[in-house]
Amino acid sequence: MSGNSSRGKPILPGATVGVLGSGQLGRMFAIAARRMGYRVHTLSPDDDTPTGQVADREVQAAYDDLDAVSDFARHVDVVTFEFENVSAAATDAAEQFAPVRPAGSVLHTTQHRLREKTFLSVNGFPVTPNETVRSLAELEAALVRLGTPAVLKTAGWGYDGKGQSKIERASDAAAAWNKVATTEAVLEAWVPFKAEVSVVAARGLDGEYADFGVVANTHRNHILDLTVAPADVSDRVRREATEITRAILERLQVVGVLCVEFFLTHDDKLLVNELAPRPHNSGHFSFDACVTSQFEQQLRAICGLPLGSTELLRPAAMSNLLGDVWSDGEPNWAAACKLPNVKLHLYGKASPRPGRKMGHLTAFGNTPADAAATALAARDALLRRE
Ligand code: AMP
Repeated sequence: MSGNSSRGKPILPGATVGVLGSGQLGRMFAIAARRMGYRVHTLSPDDDTPTGQVADREVQAAYDDLDAVSDFARHVDVVTFEFENVSAAATDAAEQFAPVRPAGSVLHTTQHRLREKTFLSVNGFPVTPNETVRSLAELEAALVRLGTPAVLKTAGWGYDGKGQSKIERASDAAAAWNKVATTEAVLEAWVPFKAEVSVVAARGLDGEYADFGVVANTHRNHILDLTVAPADVSDRVRREATEITRAILERLQVVGVLCVEFFLTHDDKLLVNELAPRPHNSGHFSFDACVTSQFEQQLRAICGLPLGSTELLRPAAMSNLLGDVWSDGEPNWAAACKLPNVKLHLYGKASPRPGRKMGHLTAFGNTPADAAATALAARDALLRRE
């Protein structure tokens, strides 16, 4: 509760951190923060949330309830978030009472695809060929220039493939425009990538930088399915991906954690697909597999502490557990727990709807491929009936 006067000074254990958003990212952040002796408050429109279950205080309010957000910020020493779709009005309201890290300006850029792509292109970062479209006529014209296949994405509030429509033929334009049902979208050329990779990185209050290396991601139905660390890429790709990531964090003046998702093309070129200004699903392996996790790193960065070592202790892989794993009843937890190199994480969500992220498994191996095979075998074991 030290307000503006404390800006710049480290926020030490015993202080209170406020998290806007209350999902699994906030939960794992709260676990890391409590382990280091901090108190955690969370604000979101829901109650009994994944974050609230492990926080000291859970506030239930809309993100645009500026009085509630101000009151929330008044009771904490620093505000961070685990959900980037918080309005500038809300981050401005919070900023009156406590530092907001990363700053509202970082959210503003990254929560909107057009602003994000403009930021990336203006600063010379490689992006997927794309065009802004605001009507069906503009979409049809953009399709002539970009060709098919292409993918139409809403400009704001999209994640995990939500608000997206793939266009195979020019004649699909009207159906895609109706599907995304928006007034502002981005049309992207479809990238026939050989891999998707990401880099989760942190930047401290004094500009210190650390990243968790390049990891490989496989998606299913646009949702992350498997992450393997480290990714099997050339040294040049590894260097370029981390250099681009570092430059993005510096250009945005991030204080906190940010993930850069890339497409790696068949001729080994990196294109930035998306930025997430917070810990990311593709960094969950770090919770078990690195000296410092992405969540502890977020805490250290926003509190002005030195960043921790991101050393990977063993090759690791993470498989997501979606609600679909419950389709035949309660998963066989014992079967997965019996595996010696597997760690189970569940987020405390009550209803396992298909596509909903309910938890994940982290597996270790002597090689990344071994770890990946174990992460997938462990997930299969959850479905085994004994
Ligand atoms: P996004 O929400 O934009 O990250 O998209 C989710 C997933 O859809 C990505 O991780 C890719 O697997 C796929 N995807 C999205 N955009 C493209 C694209 N332009 N070309 C190829 N695949 C894409």
